[in-house]
Amino acid sequence: MSRIASVILPLPLPEAFDYAEPQGMELAVGDQVVVPLGPRMTLGVVAALRDAAGVNRPLKSVVEKREGGRLPAGSVRFVEWAARYCVDVPGWPLAMTLRGANAPKARPERLVAATGAEPARATAARTRVLEAATEPMAASVLARLAGVSTGVVKGLVDDGALEIRLIEPDNSFPVPDPTLPGPPLNPSQAAATAQLTAMLDEGFATALLDGVTGSGKTEVYLETIAALLAKDPDAQILILLPEIALTQAVIARFAERFGAAPAEWHSAVPTPERRKVWEAALSGQARIVVGARSALFLPFANLKMIVVDEEHDGSFKQSEGFVYHARDLAVVRAKLENAAVILSSATPSLETLANAQSGRYRWLRLADRFGGATLPDVSLIDMRATPPDAGKWLSPPLVAAMAETLGRGEQSLLFLNRRGYAPLVICRSCGERMTAPDTDSWLVEHRYTGRLVCHLTGFSMAKPKLCPHCGAEDSLVSVGPGVERVEEEVRERFPEARVAVFSSDTIFTADAAREMIGAMTAGDIDILVATQSAAKGHNFPNLTLVGVVDADLSLKGGDLRAGERTWQLLAQVAGRAGRHAKQGRALLQTFSPDHPVLQALAERDREAFVEREMAQREAASLPPFGRLAALIVSGPEPAALNAFVRKLAEAAPNAPGVEIYGPADAPLALVRGRRRKRFLVRADRDVDLSAYLAAWKARVKVPGAIRLTIDVDPYSFL
Ligand code: ADP
Repeated sequence: MSRIASVILPLPLPEAFDYAEPQGMELAVGDQVVVPLGPRMTLGVVAALRDAAGVNRPLKSVVEKREGGRLPAGSVRFVEWAARYCVDVPGWPLAMTLRGANAPKARPERLVAATGAEPARATAARTRVLEAATEPMAASVLARLAGVSTGVVKGLVDDGALEIRLIEPDNSFPVPDPTLPGPPLNPSQAAATAQLTAMLDEGFATALLDGVTGSGKTEVYLETIAALLAKDPDAQILILLPEIALTQAVIARFAERFGAAPAEWHSAVPTPERRKVWEAALSGQARIVVGARSALFLPFANLKMIVVDEEHDGSFKQSEGFVYHARDLAVVRAKLENAAVILSSATPSLETLANAQSGRYRWLRLADRFGGATLPDVSLIDMRATPPDAGKWLSPPLVAAMAETLGRGEQSLLFLNRRGYAPLVICRSCGERMTAPDTDSWLVEHRYTGRLVCHLTGFSMAKPKLCPHCGAEDSLVSVGPGVERVEEEVRERFPEARVAVFSSDTIFTADAAREMIGAMTAGDIDILVATQSAAKGHNFPNLTLVGVVDADLSLKGGDLRAGERTWQLLAQVAGRAGRHAKQGRALLQTFSPDHPVLQALAERDREAFVEREMAQREAASLPPFGRLAALIVSGPEPAALNAFVRKLAEAAPNAPGVEIYGPADAPLALVRGRRRKRFLVRADRDVDLSAYLAAWKARVKVPGAIRLTIDVDPYSFL
């Protein structure tokens, strides 16, 4: 009986295409196949097979099946589910799933080794080389050890005294050993571990591991992983972390606990290594994978558990290309795989808390820091009562606290989530605000590089001497502080202190980040000025003071999650202080000390914050009590864009429980020369929002120059 294969291609095509299965090919769901698409051949994946009886359309045939490349059926279902949920083409999530499959493999290493034969001609240099060749090594390393040029090494190879050995790369991952002893757990850690371990027997289930910073959440999920592997040595476990929390320190903790480093998947992993991780996920050989959000798309053969650490973190949302939220899709993936999910955070998202409150998620709490370390005292500094000096950013109480801390030989962290020197440059003479030529956002001044930079598009220019608008000379002034400017003030005030800045502009590589974190941990820095890159996950034993330069910053803008984000960020930053024996404190500079979010932070009253925030969301039927989606439409030409947006508005289906706001100019109305408009859709919880949006999208044809992006559950409203 002949069959039809429905094949998804990793391309922006609306659906899977049908191909005939050639006699004897014996395809299965998940097979990677080569199929003709127009004039060319393309790689795709079989999503379904069905009987060809009754189909009389002429179909092209599958050309080739890739042996050994069959994706697990769960991966294929996940691709389809993710595309449907996010109202996008299946080609996007499929391309993410195949990302490691087609990366180049690691090449064999070429080493040289002594053969034992005497060279035909001996010289002093040659003798040194042969003496140094105690084990196989790269020719360049051997030459360096012997203090000769690589020509001498090559001559010895030609002479037969050395030989070249090709060493195939090791494609295996060491198997974790769950029997290694972990630390003894305290009673609340032990109770949480026991509940999570019991949950593993239930197949799909979700738990919120809710514990203050430093309470041992990581310890708890490491123990749960150990319990899982002890019972099922072939189980695979995925740990998702925000990209910037993926530090060597975290990897080292896994390596130490299980005697084997986990597989890593994030942007800094070189491509041959990605191929190795991808294949080891597929073969089941990699048991523990620690990765950033896109690791969720790896083709696991036997996934039993997913941990989403720092589940509240906004970086789990990808908003370019395929728009998805890795925390939400992790729960879906686990459901499809019948696996367990642990969402871990000291400041859980309201969505997750609502699920925990309703009993849909198990809720495990760790109320205290481990080992008697106490949470920092949080106080607000009213910037109206104790303002900084003119042109300065640090208020007298914060400066005094820093001086005290420095005097005690302890460390301070000043937090400001603003890169560069100044967020805005204006002309004193005409009031012009410097913006990028093709984008509606301010240019940020960077003193280290002497440039004005658009953080949205990467555009940059030298800071001009004359105002580009009115031509006045030396009239451009820097407004407001970024981390570089705060650093300048700190150096002026504390010339004897060792000061460093940590932001993505000053620390470019993972090695540099590691070095700086190492220096901070070792106590070689007294005052660190940092953006949120340093706010997460790190453990600095001698850090006892955290100063938040502008606690009001993330409250501005007023989008749905402004309060929640501020709460999470500041609670996390404050949580950096006093993680060990010493008492820590956090001082928050604010112009609105009565703001309920800041009040709740100072009182360390999470319940008050959550209750108030939930009540507001419920009253407005906003997430988690309702659902949101955004449609973002952009185009280079205003008239064509307006015409399309009008058509799109007219095409919106009527449905009970759905409201549409817009179209409106997006707050960022111009990006890279494209004008942007937005719709916001609010729906009741029981509405199938994805289906509604798909129906809407199907009613319009998007012209070539126009881009329509659908963002289900948006996190950015710009
Ligand atoms: P969290 O993930 O909640 O921030 P961690 O698991 O990182 O907390 O624990 C905080 C610190 O306390 C770490 O240095 C960790 O090694 C230590 N710690 C936590 N629990 C234990 C334990 N039971 N025994 C020994 N050290 C522990």
